[in-house]
Amino acid sequence: TAKGTALLDVQGVRKTFGGLVAVDNVSFQVKAGEVVGLIGPNGAGKSTTFNLVTGLLHANDGTVSFMGQRIETQTSRDIAAMGVARTFQHVKLIPNMTVLDNVALGAHLRADVGVVSATLHTDRRTEASILQEAAHALKRVGLEEHMYTEAGNLALGQQRLLEIARALCCDPVLLLLDEPAAGLRAFEKEALAQLLSSLRDEGMGILIVEHDMEFVMQLTDHIVVMVFGQKIAEGPPATIQTNPAVLEAYLGG
Ligand code: ADP
Ligand code: MG
Repeated sequence: TAKGTALLDVQGVRKTFGGLVAVDNVSFQVKAGEVVGLIGPNGAGKSTTFNLVTGLLHANDGTVSFMGQRIETQTSRDIAAMGVARTFQHVKLIPNMTVLDNVALGAHLRADVGVVSATLHTDRRTEASILQEAAHALKRVGLEEHMYTEAGNLALGQQRLLEIARALCCDPVLLLLDEPAAGLRAFEKEALAQLLSSLRDEGMGILIVEHDMEFVMQLTDHIVVMVFGQKIAEGPPATIQTNPAVLEAYLGG
């Protein structure tokens, strides 16, 4: 995808849980070759926004488009098959399977998705090529030495990297990461930042929820700030850092 092309276009989405408005009229875009940060205090609606984009939840109102196609009513499998990959705030892996099989499993799940997979020729993909791709993804996140380790034996930071490898395994167009730096040690964070920069340079669009502000400020091209379900600001990191409404939301007014 050409850099600068809008990949994700979220317009006026709203999601309520009973009387609670978790996401309230939120709009933003993610372009190819761009890292967008989605920040805000706990409970702001960031993970819910991820769920609305990836089809785990459906918005009460508003539209979500991916590469010009409306996806707000599509299933999470179909959205994944279109090239949207994500990781979860809480690591989800199969502890007694090897690291390699955990990554390959993700690719299998996405390869099974029918209509769109035919277009992507994933149906013709052999077991061997999936394992090869999985190994390549593990190499990109720096886990190649742990391919045959049981996933449950990895340190927390490594488990997060494994999740990212699983998301990368099908060459996603758009990658959504929910708190990827949580629990990572300094050198792992540095490596993750470098990986995400190179994915961006290759033209991937990346949307990242992250509480580590140093990480967010050094990595992102654009930041969207949510508080109590609403977007209160957006812009480049330098302006967000000095935005009075943002400072107040973080420091408590
Ligand atoms: P964040 O990721 O920014 O911390 P969330 O999107 O997880 O915030 O949550 C936003 C609000 O919606 C919170 O008040 C949370 O308790 C509520 N919420 C999230 N998911 C659900 C759910 N499945 N059912 C009911 N309330 C939910
Ligand atoms: Mg969250």
